[in-house]
Amino acid sequence: MINMTLSKAQEAFRDYVHQVALEEMRPISLECDRTEQIPKSFFWNMQKRFRAGAAAQARMQAQEGEAQQENVFSMLSQEELAWGDAGLSTAIPGPGLAAPPILSQGSPEQQAKFLSIYADDRLHWGALALTEPGIGSDVAGMSTTAVLDGDEWIINGHKHYITNGARADLIITFATVDKSRGREGIRPFVVPGGTPGLIVGRIEEKMGLRASQTAELIFENCRIPKDHLLAGRERSTKAGFKAAMGTLDATRPMVGAIALGIARAAYEATCQWVSEELPIGFSAYKRRAIDEELEELRQELEMARFLVWRAAWMADQRIPNSKEASMSKAYAGGLIMKITAAAVRITAPGEHSETKQFIQKWFRDAKVFDIFEGTAQIQRLVIARRMFPKVNIP
Ligand SMILES: Cc1cc2nc3c(=O)[nH]c(=O)nc-3n(C[C@H](O)[C@H](O)[C@H](O)COP(=O)(O)OP(=O)(O)OC[C@H]3O[C@@H](n4cnc5c(N)ncnc54)[C@H](O)[C@@H]3O)c2cc1C
Repeated sequence: MINMTLSKAQEAFRDYVHQVALEEMRPISLECDRTEQIPKSFFWNMQKRFRAGAAAQARMQAQEGEAQQENVFSMLSQEELAWGDAGLSTAIPGPGLAAPPILSQGSPEQQAKFLSIYADDRLHWGALALTEPGIGSDVAGMSTTAVLDGDEWIINGHKHYITNGARADLIITFATVDKSRGREGIRPFVVPGGTPGLIVGRIEEKMGLRASQTAELIFENCRIPKDHLLAGRERSTKAGFKAAMGTLDATRPMVGAIALGIARAAYEATCQWVSEELPIGFSAYKRRAIDEELEELRQELEMARFLVWRAAWMADQRIPNSKEASMSKAYAGGLIMKITAAAVRITAPGEHSETKQFIQKWFRDAKVFDIFEGTAQIQRLVIARRMFPKVNIP
């Protein structure tokens, strides 16, 4: 039975990350959103604080004799960081989205080789490149190719909307080794940033998550060593691709946690506005209606948290969680839209204040949670396929 009470180590870790979000992210959040730039000091501060936090977390877990719970800890961290600023949180140095495929698909040698670079004293990032112009939800038609030439793979193709794509040291790039085999031909490759033939194209100007870097990547005869194919040639079956996509079961609850963090920030700011900034003369019946709405939203926040915690906990227990991961992402992704829209509406009257600026930013940030890591429609398909396995849902 899932236990919804945090251990001492988990609580201490969450409080630590919350403090980091409060001190390092909130003060620069609005300015980074406006300029789409992040000061370099932010990267160094976050690297320092997270290394210290990770060491303390490991010590406390060991003292309390807790089993490995990387998904639960990551989920707690994502919610707090997104409460600080979700755009900035994607830019924190580390392997990021490159880590799950390396950990789940890489051999022990590949894991050691590729992840060790993130342990030195410099700043490093990772990225995952799946989406192409015209290929997002349905990757079967992927057009990026990988051809083996002696001891090297030659990658050709075009990816877009890649988070941290222009600054990543390693880009897990999905390409097909045989277009005629659709999904079965798709493999993950590790492409080091700066490899000749890897060209960084446009950096997107976005409505929300503006501090997050979203890049176009072009591969023109980009050569990488043969052993940069994750999962090896023996995985050249549908099962291999499914396993690679299975990393989404770990990352979707994290995206749900990020949505939850922004939704909670907007909710808290609205409650604060109602108690401190409500214009004089606001009628009692309007105030009562707002209180009732906030109470309902509070319940929905708790429901989203339950779905996210359950999916992350299942991932740690190695219990298959595709349905639950999609539910958590779909529910939190819808709720963030609802809460941020309500926050903008409720706080519309009165003076323009910093609270309102934050709320408007979170409203813009919210939309992407309906798009990346699988749109809401795709989550519903995943859930339906798991609920009705005998029905052929395309
Ligand atoms: C800020 C941002 C960051 C991103 N970061 C990354 C990243 O780091 N790496 C990466 O690889 N990608 C990234 N993406 C891309 C993102 O994952 C895709 O945009 C998303 O998967 C949707 O794909 P698409 O844009 O091609 O839209 P499409 O797949 O073309 O979808 C368009 C519409 O059709 C609907 N649709 C599609 N298929 C079906 C179906 N079978 N049934 C019902 N409806 C359907 C969708 O729900 C959507 O409403 C990012 C996107 C954004 C905006």
